[in-house]
Amino acid sequence: MSTPATPFSSLGLHPVLLEAVHNLGYEVPTPVQAAAIPPLADGRDVLGLAATGTGKTAAFALPMLHRFAEEPGTRAVTGLVIVPTRELARQVARAVLSYGKQLGVRVLPVYGGSPMGTQLRALSRGVDVVVATPGRALDHLNRGTLRLDLVRTVVLDEADEMLDMGFQEDIEALLDACPVGCQKALFSATLPGRLRRIADSVLAEPVLVELRPKKSAAGARPDVVQIAHVLRRADKGAALARILDLEEPDAMLVFCRTRLAVDELVESLVARGLRAEPLHGGMSQGQRERVMARLRSRSADLLVCTDVAARGIDIPHLSHVVNFELPNSPEAYTHRIGRTGRAGRKGRAITFISRRERSVLSRVERAVGTKIPIVPLPTLEELRDAHLRRLKLRVSEVVEMGELDAFRRVVADLVDESGLDPMDIAAAALRALHDEVAPDESDLEVGPPISNGPRKRDQRRDMGHPQGIPWAQIQIDIGRRDRVRPGDLVGAITNEAGLSSRDIGSIDIVERCSFIEIRADAVGHVLDVLHRVTIRGRPVRGRPARPKPPHR
Ligand code: AMP
Repeated sequence: MSTPATPFSSLGLHPVLLEAVHNLGYEVPTPVQAAAIPPLADGRDVLGLAATGTGKTAAFALPMLHRFAEEPGTRAVTGLVIVPTRELARQVARAVLSYGKQLGVRVLPVYGGSPMGTQLRALSRGVDVVVATPGRALDHLNRGTLRLDLVRTVVLDEADEMLDMGFQEDIEALLDACPVGCQKALFSATLPGRLRRIADSVLAEPVLVELRPKKSAAGARPDVVQIAHVLRRADKGAALARILDLEEPDAMLVFCRTRLAVDELVESLVARGLRAEPLHGGMSQGQRERVMARLRSRSADLLVCTDVAARGIDIPHLSHVVNFELPNSPEAYTHRIGRTGRAGRKGRAITFISRRERSVLSRVERAVGTKIPIVPLPTLEELRDAHLRRLKLRVSEVVEMGELDAFRRVVADLVDESGLDPMDIAAAALRALHDEVAPDESDLEVGPPISNGPRKRDQRRDMGHPQGIPWAQIQIDIGRRDRVRPGDLVGAITNEAGLSSRDIGSIDIVERCSFIEIRADAVGHVLDVLHRVTIRGRPVRGRPARPKPPHR
């Protein structure tokens, strides 16, 4: 177990900022935030040894905004963040704005390569926080278009990078232009000698924020196989679908950093036909307990959760942990993967990272003392092979079980009446079985968005729509794996909701859910009715289907 987390509310931040982080779905401060926010909000200088991925941006942005909230109203720049690259300038500016929107803070990213004119106009209208790369900031300073004489807080972000890029003189010139006594914070992943000397000369009695990950025995988990995949963000959903398809986990926890990310992922997984459920701190205790009970009784097997909500989950059959987003500290990584590989069973921990997050992964490896190999995602070819292997196994089992006389007669009839080859018949039967269980490959595509045309539909029902009636589609959470057939759905809707079969359009049954077209004016009524019935022994949950994402 990790130590109980400090709540955001204990950090002394302005209530508007507490609301902002709550609305962004942050549940608790990261370790860097818990350590750096109080001294910074208090006006102290800080030397923060924190790399990207630790939540360091909010660690300096929130106190900067806190000080802004306490003393707003100047028309001058009061906060300056100096960063090494334009990407970071844009990213940090976006973050500052997202935390400070309700305070009416005006934030401007300033970097080389973007038109000077736009920046000049914004600066002349008045800006509270400037997030700048050193060269361009100095440019503006020398032209007199950026004034730093009323700055209250300067942050040097990724200071080691800036030194490596040769920005030392520019940074010194910028610091010289700020008031002597202003608050200064320096954040850096590493502290080489050169940087230490700058820190010593620039910072006044700084509070040192340094989180040495403890190498704990809990980090070494021989019973958990740990791997990572390097992926583009847009491919993570398909990657998860591939893993689910190939590995057929008993039960899986998928981790995101925030409540919002959890909700978004659940929604996109459900749209892919996967029965995923959320677990986060924004849910009531009762809701969380119900989800946990479903996991325990195996009626739920795919939970998407935040670190806080998953704390202490102890489910022996939990076979997989997926880090859909990297955790904010190595301790959180250890804690996440510790949910699997319990009670003497083997577990698998799979971490998704972007190319830029490789360094974060290395830090996790050092902290947990385990190599986490980066391996390629399972290919579609491997998935197909796995399906065929399972088919063979299944067929052998059925042959073993016997009682095949009725089916033998069908084969004999096909041979006699249609002159078909028994090998072709067997292959066709396998194919039909395969098509029943294999997922739609368009859901598994990674890489640039590829349009694979519309999903396969049950063509028989595509005919005979009454003309001129608007149609709508509903989605329900039972599908092929529940052995549901079109007839079950038509039956439930006609018998229970009183619709005629002509009020029902095409039916598309995919692995874990089904899409049903019905008269648009009957959607509410049909959903109400379906929520009260069971189909194939299962309670049903449904909702209006969303328009398909463009890559479908
Ligand atoms: P950073 O290290 O500043 O680049 O932040 C890494 C990521 O963590 C960003 O996507 C933030 O939105 C997210 N983040 C920052 N603080 C928290 C928090 N307290 N809880 C959850 N996510 C956070």
